[in-house]
Amino acid sequence: MTITVMGVKGLPLIEEGDDLPALVSARISLRDGDILCLASSVYSKSKGYTRPLNSITAGERACRIAAATGEDPRFIQAVLDSSAEVLLEYPFVLSMVPCGHIGVRAGVDQSNIADGMVILLPPDPMGAAAEFRERLHATAGVNVGVIITDTCGRSFRRGQTGHAIGWSGMPAIRDFRGDTDLFGHVLKITEEAVIDEIAGFANFVMGESNNGVPAVVFRGIVNWKGHDDIYFNPDEDIFRRLLRDPPRNG
Ligand code: GDP
Ligand code: MN
Ligand code: MN
Repeated sequence: MTITVMGVKGLPLIEEGDDLPALVSARISLRDGDILCLASSVYSKSKGYTRPLNSITAGERACRIAAATGEDPRFIQAVLDSSAEVLLEYPFVLSMVPCGHIGVRAGVDQSNIADGMVILLPPDPMGAAAEFRERLHATAGVNVGVIITDTCGRSFRRGQTGHAIGWSGMPAIRDFRGDTDLFGHVLKITEEAVIDEIAGFANFVMGESNNGVPAVVFRGIVNWKGHDDIYFNPDEDIFRRLLRDPPRNG
């Protein structure tokens, strides 16, 4: 497989109401089969999924958490408002958002937006990816896969990477179960989260600060087969269980 990766340069600062699919397709000539990764932050800005901190009144829980973490209580309130379930409050809020994604501070960002504003994750990232894909088809006449990404931390390892939070036009997971390896062993476990691998590299091309590249196009990725069940069910997720019921020693 030879894969070409292209950052989309020259996009303006995105504001609510901007036609992002049109802005992207005016700056890069997309082809059928391409995969476009888009930073969730810019998608959210284009749709107005942002909040001014001065419109937020922090409640008792937000004030309590903020006192411990040293953050702005209104910011924590925005995080709690975005959360379907809070898994951890300290030393940082870790929560699940309604689509099933679990992230630090519910993915609420204070960077790459004006002072006093926060960017929320898109409330329906799967719908966002599907809509973006349809709009690219309508605007540029191309059949392109879309992945909405966010920069996320990981357990056990230092360093953030890009994760896919919404996708359309491809399965999330490449399922190797039932394949045979080089020695004829049948694979029983391996499911590869291909959309996260692609999102991870896209995130590298985007950068985190003032690069101004919120969209990255991959050309030459061969289709894969699999499924979309990327989120564990709560009862099969042992780490989530452990966060809820920590084992007592002794
Ligand atoms: P996140 O990972 O989705 O939270 O997004 P980031 O804030 O890390 O931004 C990802 C990339 O998009 C970086 O290269 C930013 O400089 C860029 N970016 C963020 N907002 C804008 C914008 O409004 N316009 C442009 N052109 N780039 C942006
Ligand atoms: Mn983010
Ligand atoms: Mn980022």
